[in-house]
Amino acid sequence: MPPLPQAFQARMADLLGPETPAFLASLEDAPAAGVRTNTLKLPAAALAALSPVPLTPLAWAPEGFWMPEAARVFFNGRNPLHAAGAYYLQEPSAMAAAGLAGVQPGERILDLAAAPGGKSTHLAARLGQRGVLIANEIHPSRVWTLAENLERCGVRNAVITQETPERLAEHFGAFFDRVLVDAPCSGEGMFRKSAEARQAWSPDLVRGCALRQGDILSQAARLVRPGGTLVYSTCTFAPEENEGVVAAFLARQAAAGRRFHLLPAPPEAGSLSPGQPDWGGVGAPAELAHAVRLWPQRQAGDGHFIARLRLEDGPLPSMPRPAPASLPRSVAQAWQTFAADSLVSLDFLASHTLSLHGSYLYALPPGLPDLDGLRFIHPGWWLGAMHKDRLEPAHALALGLAASDARRVRRLEQAEVARYLGGESLPNSEEQRGWTLAVLPTPVGLLPLGWLKASGGQLKNAYPKGLRQAG
Ligand code: SAM
Repeated sequence: MPPLPQAFQARMADLLGPETPAFLASLEDAPAAGVRTNTLKLPAAALAALSPVPLTPLAWAPEGFWMPEAARVFFNGRNPLHAAGAYYLQEPSAMAAAGLAGVQPGERILDLAAAPGGKSTHLAARLGQRGVLIANEIHPSRVWTLAENLERCGVRNAVITQETPERLAEHFGAFFDRVLVDAPCSGEGMFRKSAEARQAWSPDLVRGCALRQGDILSQAARLVRPGGTLVYSTCTFAPEENEGVVAAFLARQAAAGRRFHLLPAPPEAGSLSPGQPDWGGVGAPAELAHAVRLWPQRQAGDGHFIARLRLEDGPLPSMPRPAPASLPRSVAQAWQTFAADSLVSLDFLASHTLSLHGSYLYALPPGLPDLDGLRFIHPGWWLGAMHKDRLEPAHALALGLAASDARRVRRLEQAEVARYLGGESLPNSEEQRGWTLAVLPTPVGLLPLGWLKASGGQLKNAYPKGLRQAG
């Protein structure tokens, strides 16, 4: 690991005084690891029960846990439970932003800078498949990792867009109950694990990031409904990117006649450190103390900053035009044929709207505005693809179902799990027909892994090629 930049050390010594040696030493510690239960699939206590060693929950997100070394070899990216979306591997401090966001099931949420999806999958779990999550990522290749993670977690009410904050603000207006801006930043909080972050750091980088963060926040503010909340987070210590950006934002908004106020962290979130009003620049308000800092010398996780900003109440704007339903009769028929044969009921789709995009069939979350003109990857829950007059179910459909939703399931034997995830077909010993849900038996229930399709004496493997694990 390259040494910490000298200019960084000097800046932090000015800010932290006698705490500086402990702070600098903490940046040379091994990084902490965390695992978060995907509560769309199982309760937090169930994940802890699966662990080979006891897990300690995080105060700021009780569905997340500190991961001791002995748990890391179990909860890794190759465990079939991971492929089944039972958990998300996430640094403990990184769970604070969504953990403290105050999401209520049924809300309209925007995650403006969402890839690879740690916070989006967390927000989605808090929504509990109700309401709508727009997960946006500006970067054209990172957005696909975001899509993959939301799919694996079985999220049914997410829309994945690849847009600039400006275009989203123009399109949606003040539509959202909550907007999360997990901003691109100078990444000082990741100095423990990232040599690139240490090498890329400079005072100019900090200044450049602060300017960009201010621009993103100005657009994000346009997307918050009156009485809604804007959550701003970074993984850096630099006051210019934290208290400084928030203070300048509050002043700009107030000058434009819009008042945001910082909300204090809920008491159950534990002993988080306060924001520092005196680091926010001239005239910075005392309420900056309501922001939250996670310091690596005070708790085991990385450095983070979170500010929750509530927009004052006011008249609600008119809602954007809803997404139009567009479903050719032949597609509706193909879906009904598939569903009648393969699914027990369609109750879980009662409030969604079916919509065809190209040859792909989607279930749009209720209340979703028209996305016309926006770049999106998925406009909702991907149900399947039309092949001539038949519907082939999507992997996202399998992962969003419960095992009890499928008419036919194949409980994979232990030895079959790796074969299935590796892409092998299985013998059709029970002479099943049509589409069968491959499920992972676990001590806490059956978790879907993907589809199998009966063909002759075989159950052909429909696990996506890009996800297959080499043996
Ligand atoms: N929230 C993510 C998570 O929890 O997995 C991490 C987000 S990362 C800190 C910041 C993201 O902002 C990056 O994916 C980056 O591509 C994106 N980004 C960079 N410039 C941006 C801009 N001008 N507007 C919006 N997003 C931007």
